[in-house]
Amino acid sequence: MEPFGAGIVPPEPDHYIARRGDGGGAWRNGRGGDTLGAASVRLGSIRCSEIEWRALMSTVAIVGAGIVGASVAYHLARRSVSVTLIDRAPSPATGATGESFGWIGDAGGEWPGGAEDLRASVLADYRRLAAEVPGVAIRWTGSLRWGDASAQPGGGARLAHGQQWIGRGDIAALEPHLREPPEWAVYTPTDGGVDPVRTTEALVQAARALGARVVLGAGVASLKIASGRVEGVLSQAGLYPASTVVLAAGADVGALCAPLGVALPVAASPAFRISAAAPPGLIRTILDNPDVDIRESRDGHLVMAAFHDDGASGVALERFAQHLVGCVQASFGGSVPLRLLGHGIGRRPMPTGGPVVGYVTPDKSVYVAVMHSAITLAPTVGRLIADELISGEPVAGLRRCRPQRFSKQ
Ligand SMILES: Cc1cc2nc3c(=O)[nH]c(=O)nc-3n(C[C@H](O)[C@H](O)[C@H](O)COP(=O)(O)OP(=O)(O)OC[C@H]3O[C@@H](n4cnc5c(N)ncnc54)[C@H](O)[C@@H]3O)c2cc1C
Repeated sequence: MEPFGAGIVPPEPDHYIARRGDGGGAWRNGRGGDTLGAASVRLGSIRCSEIEWRALMSTVAIVGAGIVGASVAYHLARRSVSVTLIDRAPSPATGATGESFGWIGDAGGEWPGGAEDLRASVLADYRRLAAEVPGVAIRWTGSLRWGDASAQPGGGARLAHGQQWIGRGDIAALEPHLREPPEWAVYTPTDGGVDPVRTTEALVQAARALGARVVLGAGVASLKIASGRVEGVLSQAGLYPASTVVLAAGADVGALCAPLGVALPVAASPAFRISAAAPPGLIRTILDNPDVDIRESRDGHLVMAAFHDDGASGVALERFAQHLVGCVQASFGGSVPLRLLGHGIGRRPMPTGGPVVGYVTPDKSVYVAVMHSAITLAPTVGRLIADELISGEPVAGLRRCRPQRFSKQ
């Protein structure tokens, strides 16, 4: 990662407009004026030319280096937009993304609101990213779901396009180490899994290689507003000027929007992630049953996801994690060596009614991007957001994701 502070050092808040013709060394408070024209401008500890300064002011600042912010940064940077990606953590993907299971697909699951309109693009966008960005790697393993009433033929479940029922023999062929394959399962051959942290890091790295500035360890406290317009973000490390701010702060988007008078209902829903060491190839697909989801994230490394109470103590979580590992072990013959490696709870951003993507201020200086199942949706959403910001035209695929749906209620 680029060390924090590398590149241009931010100026003090409220002191970022240079005085015309003052020899480039003096500062005045930016309130009430936007004079530009000095031959050079001092920005923090280094001097910028006016061209550089203008470029900074037309920068898109993105708050949040989870998978959504990273994807937006990459898709803008690849189209030559000046981007500053800012996160409070010392590395990308420390929010929900860092605890995620990483299951991607376009068939099963829920697609609330505007997510349904993105569904048809998610696999193609992942294939494109895998070809474009070194480090984005997908394990196209397919998935098997069983164990609830809806996973029985005749149980009232409707299969999505591309899904099929398979019986015990076929399940055993796909998962030869499973001790007692169920009678039936829903098989979705097109599903895959990604490593959310590696994917996010790869997107950040690719954005940086394309010229994006990445600022880590800089929590954004508020937005810089002058003459009613947002002009940048104020972080613990100072001001980052920008003409457009994209809030991709996951479950914290609502808190950043509140001072703007914008109320976004985004719940933080806890989910539990466990990692374990296992013999390579023990599990070959993505296994989904009502208690736990499991897949091999890389050779010899399993990831599991389950629902669990956010308020549980560390001891209770450790016990629960050991219990799940024991259950998985029993399903694969009991003597299989499985070892708990770690666990954590992620706060999944869950906006009411599906993804929220779009401008939240009338002057179009602040944009939000928050959604559940963002590992699946981020490549598509990042591409569409870049289209929208660059063209200045609303993109049809995001029509049902607009934050304005909340103000109309
Ligand atoms: C256990 C679990 C399993 C999951 N499984 C799947 C799955 O299989 N498939 C799927 O598609 N999705 C899954 N999800 C959901 C998915 O992980 C999330 O939808 C996704 O990670 C959200 O990404 P994000 O970038 O919006 O938010 P985050 O990853 O939370 O990123 C937000 C970033 O903003 C930063 N930030 C916040 N406030 C500030 C601030 N004031 N200043 C600076 N930085 C700030 C945070 O540090 C963080 O890095 C799962 C989630 C969990 C927890």
